[in-house]
Amino acid sequence: MTTEPAATPSPSQQSALLEGNARYLEHGVPGPLSITPKQRTVILSCVDPRVDPARILDLREGDAAVIRNVGGRVTPAVMQTMAMLQMITRADAPDQPAAPSPADTWTFVVLQHTDCGITRLGDHPDLLATYFGIDVDDVESRNVTDPNAAVAGDVAQLNRTLAPQFIVVGMVHDLDTGRVRITDPTT
Ligand SMILES: [Zn+2]
Repeated sequence: MTTEPAATPSPSQQSALLEGNARYLEHGVPGPLSITPKQRTVILSCVDPRVDPARILDLREGDAAVIRNVGGRVTPAVMQTMAMLQMITRADAPDQPAAPSPADTWTFVVLQHTDCGITRLGDHPDLLATYFGIDVDDVESRNVTDPNAAVAGDVAQLNRTLAPQFIVVGMVHDLDTGRVRITDPTT
C-alpha cells in the first residue's frame, strides 16, 4: 500500500494569501477592540465560500461573533460553542452582574441560504443524524432541503434553549440576488 504525500498549499496559493493580508494592512489595523462583539451579535452561518456574513452584512472587525458550519445549522457543537462564548464574554466583563438585566440583550442571527450544499446530503440520513445529534428517524424534521423551514426550526430550537437575553432572528440569503430576507418568526 502506497501513501500519498500530504497535500500542502502551493507557493502561489500561499503568496496570494499573504498578498491579501498586505492589502488588508494597507487599510490600517483597527484599534484595540473588545472580545465582546460591539453589536452584541452572534451569527450562525454556512461555511460556503459564497456566503461570507462579514461581506453580506457589511460587518467590521469586532462587530459580531461568527460561527460557521455546514448549512449554518443548530447542532450540539454550536450549543457548546455558545456556552464557551458566554463564559469568555463574561470573563471579559467581570463587573457585570451574574444575572443579566432584561435590557442586557444580545442578537443571535441564524443566516442560511439558497442552493446550500447541505441540501445535497439528503440521501445520507445517518451522517445528518450524527451531525444534528438526533435519532435517524428525526432527520426529516430538520428540513435540510428547505432553507426557509430549516431557519424556522432552528430559530424555534434556539428560542427554547438559549438564555432569555438572546433575541433570535432568522435570515435567508438569496444567492442569486444577494439579498437577505428576515424570515417570519410565526411560520
Ligand atoms: Zn450552505
